[in-house]
Amino acid sequence: MATMIAARLHAYGQPMTLDRIEVPQPRATDVLVEVKACGVVPNLTRVVSNYFGTLTPDNKMMPPLPAIFGLDPAGVVAKVGEQVWHVRPGERVYVNPGRSCGSCRMCRSGQAYDCPSWTLQGYFGRSQEIMRAYPYGGLAQFITAPATALVKLPDSVSFEAAARLGYFGTAYAAMKKIGVGPGQSLLINGISGQLGLNAALLALAMGATKILGTGRNQKLLDRVKALSPKRIEVLAVPNAPSAQPDPLVVWARKLADGHGVDGMIDCLPPGAPASAMMRALYCLRRGGRAVNVGAVMETLPINAFWMMTNRISLQGSVWFTTGEGEDMVAMAAAGTLDLSVLRHRVSPLSKVNEVLAGMDDRDGGFTNFVIDPTRVG
Ligand SMILES: [Zn+2]
Repeated sequence: MATMIAARLHAYGQPMTLDRIEVPQPRATDVLVEVKACGVVPNLTRVVSNYFGTLTPDNKMMPPLPAIFGLDPAGVVAKVGEQVWHVRPGERVYVNPGRSCGSCRMCRSGQAYDCPSWTLQGYFGRSQEIMRAYPYGGLAQFITAPATALVKLPDSVSFEAAARLGYFGTAYAAMKKIGVGPGQSLLINGISGQLGLNAALLALAMGATKILGTGRNQKLLDRVKALSPKRIEVLAVPNAPSAQPDPLVVWARKLADGHGVDGMIDCLPPGAPASAMMRALYCLRRGGRAVNVGAVMETLPINAFWMMTNRISLQGSVWFTTGEGEDMVAMAAAGTLDLSVLRHRVSPLSKVNEVLAGMDDRDGGFTNFVIDPTRVG
């Protein structure tokens, strides 16, 4: 029996332990991937430490314990199931962790991301059955996954950069929904964070002409602007407006044709107030479209009459499809999407608890936290 090392969580609020377990066998339509790098998102620290104090073993959104977390695995295909025909052992891949049931009305009609059982492998989700079927997150040396979840990596995209695709993809799918493209202006609310920086890099790749970004840390904002000084404008803003009319809205309108931006993507972190998102919404022009991938949890004081008369759209977006993952690595291979600004901070699997405890120490979105499960000592 072949065995592997996996970092497993046995109880919320406790450190993970490195356990030796059996290497799984891929089912007919699955593949076995040897993980070379797994991205770690800052929110994982909140999840496994039971930050909100609400997680119990019978919490239906969380995987059964002991659980193997790890949202963004990249590695090499080790084995394929007997019904996998277009993926071969040895291929470099990113594993999209988005799982759906495959047989509900939404899945059958090709809208898998609207599946009521939608689940993120290696994180949490809406289906205990799916979490039991795919219990391997990327903080393990091998994982199984459906062949349909694989994004094939060109040689020019490193495993470390691929381990960041979760954030990139979240931003990309959202920005596609609001039509970011040539000639368009976009406001990225929270541009220097893990999501916001990736949104900025993608907006440059997608041809957005004017990219406006808010943040709090002027030094980080200056680094973001330096990515493309002619196209990116940044403004450090407090959470609440300092005056009326709001200086943020005045600034955005002035830079965007006098009327406001075409699109807005909200990338604010957990704990940000509703007012911080509302201010960005008010930067939209008439007919402007907003999409939310941030973590504002307060109820927004939305004026439906204002939305109607100004033809404002606001949409939520979660994660990204495997096809969108293929788009992004193609852009990276072509050189239009620049991944070189990421600073990879790679740690061995044996340091997973230290990594989780130290995630506040980062240069905003520029730091890319990666665990290498091939190293356990
Ligand atoms: Zn379904």
